[in-house]
Amino acid sequence: MSIKFCSLSSGSSGNCHYIETDRTRILVDAGFSGKKIERLLSLINVDANTIDYILITHEHIDHVRGAGILSRRYDIPILANKSTWLGMEEVIGDVKDKNIKIIDTNKDLTLNDLGIHPFKIYHDAREPVGYIIYYKNFKISIATDTGWVDNNMKDKIKGSNLYLMESNHDVKMLKEGNYPWFLKQRVLSKEGHLSNVAAGEALSEILLGKGEIVLLGHLSKENNTPNLAYETVKKTIGEVYENIDLNLSYRDRPTKVYTLY
Ligand SMILES: [Zn+2]
Ligand SMILES: [Zn+2]
Repeated sequence: MSIKFCSLSSGSSGNCHYIETDRTRILVDAGFSGKKIERLLSLINVDANTIDYILITHEHIDHVRGAGILSRRYDIPILANKSTWLGMEEVIGDVKDKNIKIIDTNKDLTLNDLGIHPFKIYHDAREPVGYIIYYKNFKISIATDTGWVDNNMKDKIKGSNLYLMESNHDVKMLKEGNYPWFLKQRVLSKEGHLSNVAAGEALSEILLGKGEIVLLGHLSKENNTPNLAYETVKKTIGEVYENIDLNLSYRDRPTKVYTLY
């Protein structure tokens, strides 16, 4: 009885994460072309044909690009809240009625042997969510594309065995970088993206130091480096670092497959 997690890739050019139990295989977001997601899955020996559900966090293209294609090609249901459906309908193209699954933010649902909890995050999309995935005694939390982590979010995701936490940018790199002013303001806002320091601060309040796996995600290509994200979060979370398993996700390749027993 185990649950597996792999971030197939994460960053502003695309996001797609894979979760597997004996009975269920899901993707959280499908932000690359169908072909690319098939290829990423094949790297961990998974056939896209075996995916049972696709869960969507929000309608931005780096999260939905391949959702419609995969749904049509493999007859996969897509789950998203109503606002997100309205936002992505045109982008992802026609999806069979039976594969349009509308879920409610903050309301639990069950997918085979998985419990799912979509929770509100802060981002400039219609109704963006993160997801908590429950299986037996295991808990996995996915929290990317959020400008801040409020107490409600912290309370909800606390106690996870594995976190995928956004660590989007270094504030100094962003401020001094080449982004136009409005884009800098957007990223820095409470409805933008989480900085390395903000990720570390949130994690420092959440982590218990019981060997939790933490993956930093959605790293900016322009305004961050993997090393800077890792070292900043490591420094910010303090001593608890010794008793957790801190890792990075990658913009262009899968992480290892983490198995929780
Ligand atoms: Zn994104
Ligand atoms: Zn987004």
